[in-house]
Amino acid sequence: MMVIMKKGYSQEEFQAVLKRLEEVGLSGHPIVGKEKTVIGVVGQVYPELADDLETMPGVEGTVPISSPYKLSSREFKSEDTVVNVRGVPIGDAHTVVIAGPCAVENEEQLMTTARAVKAAGAQLLRGGAFKPRTSPYSFRGLEKRGLELLAAAREETGLPVVTEVMSVRDIDLVAQYADVLQIGARNAQNFILLEEVGKVGKPVLLKRGLSATVQEFLLAAEYILKTGNRNVILCERGIRTFETATRNTMDVNAIALIRQVSHLPIIADPSHGTGKWALVAPVGLACIAAGAHGLIVEVHPSPEHALSDGAQSLTPENFAALMARATQIADVMGRPMFQPAAQPVPA
Ligand code: PEP
Ligand code: MN
Repeated sequence: MMVIMKKGYSQEEFQAVLKRLEEVGLSGHPIVGKEKTVIGVVGQVYPELADDLETMPGVEGTVPISSPYKLSSREFKSEDTVVNVRGVPIGDAHTVVIAGPCAVENEEQLMTTARAVKAAGAQLLRGGAFKPRTSPYSFRGLEKRGLELLAAAREETGLPVVTEVMSVRDIDLVAQYADVLQIGARNAQNFILLEEVGKVGKPVLLKRGLSATVQEFLLAAEYILKTGNRNVILCERGIRTFETATRNTMDVNAIALIRQVSHLPIIADPSHGTGKWALVAPVGLACIAAGAHGLIVEVHPSPEHALSDGAQSLTPENFAALMARATQIADVMGRPMFQPAAQPVPA
């Protein structure tokens, strides 16, 4: 439910509504707009609540939110949410690209990749330090050393860093280094992790679960939003289907649909969505055309030697070619590629 405040309501009236909600075990999430102030109410709403609230001074009325997801819905907030990551806006009328290796493997691999993706126009750097692997015998990431290397790459290139946090155990450590905390597909319904990551307050990149419906995906986002953290970026990364010719099936439908039903930014991961490097560019471009606010792409200086996801990693040359095409499609779609302001030249 949403509580709509009257024009010219007083602070006391506003606070009284929030207090009333708290008294009955509900939480109020205000959006103070230029035209209107509304308070999203989440929790088990009882039948007489609307009547109770509508009699309070300063309250214009209440409106039910019909979807099961509330804070992520357009019914709750009609304007697009823009998540600002160190000056890079995700969710506005621009396109952004996050690129880097699947896993941070060593200094040279990461620095070479970071320099290459920056030169090609990527605005953020990705790289896993904690890797969820199907087999416990596969390379599982450099952990703290990987995070330190990401911080060094950010220092040199200026690119903000996106990296995965797999467990509540590691949140404090990862949050010391990351600009965006990534929740991977395998953890997308780890509800305690979602809440704890939300509480950090930093932007969260939430991947869609391997077999999550759009509704389950948005309900997962709801766990983060409910902590008061509004900085959620959704990521469509393909879903499990009967098809085995590709690693996953990229659900382009979900991108277009989520743009309609949610105000949250949504980006696409054509690397995991296809599993095949030659499909990354065509499918990535289709996702931008479908309305994605950006892409997250795996790049490796030597994909055939990659310790994870080599088959879907682009070489720096192929990534530069994708950026050129993505820039064109983004222009056609009226969502030009975001250009970070030139760094001031030190005197
Ligand atoms: C990744 O980004 O490298 C990754 C493991 O992605 P996902 O969780 O989507 O499989
Ligand atoms: Mn990967």
